Amino acid sequence: MIVKQKQKRIYLSSPHMSGREQTYIREAFETNWIAPLGPNVNAFEEDIAAYAGVNGAAAVSSGTAAIHLALELLEIGRGDRVFCSSLTFMASANPILYQGAEPVFIDSEPDTWNMSPLALKRAFKEAAKANKLPKAVIVVNLYGQSAKIDEISAICNEYEVPFIEDAAESLGSEYKGRKSGSFGKFGIYSFNGNKIITTSGGGMLISDDIAALEKARFLATQARDPAPHYQHSTVGFNYRMSNILAGVGRAQLEVLDSRVEARRAVFDRYAEALGGIPGINFMPELELTRSNRWLTTFTIDQGVTGVSPMSLINSLAEENIEARPVWKPLHLQPVFEGVEYYPHMPGKCVASALFKNGVCLPSGSNMTLDEQEQVIENVKKSFAVPFKYKEA
Ligand SMILES: *Cc1c(COP(=O)(O)O)cnc(C)c1O
Repeated sequence: MIVKQKQKRIYLSSPHMSGREQTYIREAFETNWIAPLGPNVNAFEEDIAAYAGVNGAAAVSSGTAAIHLALELLEIGRGDRVFCSSLTFMASANPILYQGAEPVFIDSEPDTWNMSPLALKRAFKEAAKANKLPKAVIVVNLYGQSAKIDEISAICNEYEVPFIEDAAESLGSEYKGRKSGSFGKFGIYSFNGNKIITTSGGGMLISDDIAALEKARFLATQARDPAPHYQHSTVGFNYRMSNILAGVGRAQLEVLDSRVEARRAVFDRYAEALGGIPGINFMPELELTRSNRWLTTFTIDQGVTGVSPMSLINSLAEENIEARPVWKPLHLQPVFEGVEYYPHMPGKCVASALFKNGVCLPSGSNMTLDEQEQVIENVKKSFAVPFKYKEA
């Protein structure tokens, strides 16, 4: 009997250790600096701030915690409104709900798949008229691609509303020569296991406002007043990063640039091999930006190909290859039923179309060439493209 050997699973984005992590972890163990905080945390914060080109950074337990702290620092509470990208992971908006505030979702535009300045402008105009301006805007840089930061920041400035840059997926990306995450009043990164670098779990709040970051550290350690008897005058959180995990982060940051190169090379291989298939369109890269290509993503014109994203994803799954649909827009999530939403243009919802037609391919920086070939061949098979399609 012949048993088909199941090939090793090819993941969407799996952790990629450099080996140097052990050095920093060993240091922490040798000095018994397991907790609290410690030298790895301080060094990781300094390294990230230097990398991003901002004045400071506060290391926390997750990207979600970093967003939560940013909202807390902006004093967003019950009844306040926050504008937020619709096409994103739920973590971008959960902290709005933690604060008892009201999210308003903003559609994407086609050039970056990120927040539409047109929709944002309309939302602001109507809010100003109704005297219901938001207290903050959360702008997400999806799959590594920066949003149209200049346009968005001009609109926010006009209404004197700060924005938070959710750069959880775009660490290492650039917008007009500056690092992604460094543009808003606050920026946030995530070091979750699937991100471009990981601490197994963790996040970072970055800003030029050193005093605000100091307050973030205070809030993230249970808001303890400077008294020996554990005195508290306000509500705090337990959100700081451990000294062990910060050690992992230091080593990961050292190889970030090479991880960006590797992911961009994965994108280039896919685009080269599959870009010629009629009806397939890869996620664009806006002029004067450089994406880290965290995930290689494309849309399928189902009228042209006759192939739906889910049929492709399912046939890849049969070959033990993990692919995913594009994020389900938050304005379509059951938890946000009835929440206000501004489409790119009246009657034209870009995010919903991207969700309906988009696919994310395995994009890890640790993928072998052979694994990338397997993905390519199986995608071609799904589109019934004969082998060596491009040469034909
Ligand atoms: C991963 C992610 C987050 C949250 O990060 P965690 O560290 O998992 O809490 C926030 N926003 C976006 C867009 C993400 O992809």
